[in-house]
Amino acid sequence: MISKDLELKIDAFIAENKENILKDIATLIEIPSVSVDGPAEAPFGEGCKKALDAALAICEGMGMATKNYDYYAGSASIGDKEKEISIMGHLDVVPEGNGWTVDPYKMTIKDGYIYGRGVADDKGPAVLGLYAMKYLKENNIPLNYTYRLMLGCSEERGMGDVEIIKQREKIPTFMFTPDADFPVINGEKGIMSAEARFAHDGAHIVKFFGGSVSNMVADRCTVALKGISKENLGELCSCKFDVENCECGCLKVTAKGVGSHAAAPDGSINAIGMLCEMLSKVEALSEAERSACAKAAATLADHNGVGLGIDCEDEQSGKITHISGVAEMEENEIVLNYNIRYPVTAKGDELKARLEAYAAAHGFAGKVLSDSAPSYRSVDTKEVQALLSAYNEVTGKEAKAKVIGGGTYARNFPNAVAFGPEFPEMPNPAGEGKGGVHMADECTSIDYMMLAVKIYIVALLKLNELEL
Ligand SMILES: [Zn+2]
Repeated sequence: MISKDLELKIDAFIAENKENILKDIATLIEIPSVSVDGPAEAPFGEGCKKALDAALAICEGMGMATKNYDYYAGSASIGDKEKEISIMGHLDVVPEGNGWTVDPYKMTIKDGYIYGRGVADDKGPAVLGLYAMKYLKENNIPLNYTYRLMLGCSEERGMGDVEIIKQREKIPTFMFTPDADFPVINGEKGIMSAEARFAHDGAHIVKFFGGSVSNMVADRCTVALKGISKENLGELCSCKFDVENCECGCLKVTAKGVGSHAAAPDGSINAIGMLCEMLSKVEALSEAERSACAKAAATLADHNGVGLGIDCEDEQSGKITHISGVAEMEENEIVLNYNIRYPVTAKGDELKARLEAYAAAHGFAGKVLSDSAPSYRSVDTKEVQALLSAYNEVTGKEAKAKVIGGGTYARNFPNAVAFGPEFPEMPNPAGEGKGGVHMADECTSIDYMMLAVKIYIVALLKLNELEL
């Protein structure tokens, strides 16, 4: 247990540094840093370059040793030991999107919360990790490891920074990434992308497109039909569909579903599935079109793998999930893209074989496009136990580690987990569908952030005592 004295000391440090923590986060929020393809001197674009410069200047201001890996990433370290413990956050953000009530690139403080793109994912958390290291430095804690804050610049767009980091810096003895939830995320499901093609004869379906990104349940899907009138749809066309006559003479039907992240599809309604299901019952369509739509709809009748013949689950991570985020038409084929998150004990190769066999047996073409293997660390390791006890001692809880469907930097390193800083119980003042990471009005509570710094400080102190 942490002593009362130590707790008071940490609380005093946080109180003293609170304004500066917020100021540093604000500095970074003001630099829009969506990762894009850039020239050699700014491989992820000007925004990421500027954000990294600003972040490294903050670290230098604290007297830390900084490194810039040619703007793929940067780092700040304390200590000179051979073995390293690393905290890895990222400075790139997802595009702001629509629906903001405040300026996404200016940090707004309102009712104890801060708002702005990146306050929670992941500029804010990276700054919290930095201040935990500042505590060790200022208090002259004898360091048994080198501590390195690693700042990636392309986490949100394929993690093209990871390879460079692995080439230029030694693999840390242990790493945690403050880019998820508390308590400790000791496993991440496998992430597979697949596609299926449903051939028809193009008698009436001339266009078909749905969704916008592969890792979100499609909330809109549109079909253009020739030679079909609204009357042909009859009762099938409920208020969940928009129907309009196009200038080209086509009937345009758009299904309106409910989106969600691919890692957590419960409660979502896939617009692609809705539209295919409806079209499969339109008698005026050709037999081939109805059949293609029925087959496509069947793959989305559930989101736990049944529709693709790959249902499975395990104790550590629960059920497999699958969603379709993007649909399009190529020639006379409706093409659905699937994002699949599979349990940590499942094997990608076996799932691939099952999916392809299932597709063949059900009259469509299915293939796996990419596969990122799951990662899993036993909860019994000293490192995971240290993080867990830091969280539990600071919060007074008895939480257990968990596996998530999302992918973080941790899956790319041999001994790494995700650790905070989001508290699932934190109230969301932004309202339904807002306030979270990647959403409009991204926000986080200042009090909870300060609690997270405290947990990080205690965690580093505990890790420092371990022999790894
Ligand atoms: Zn992130």
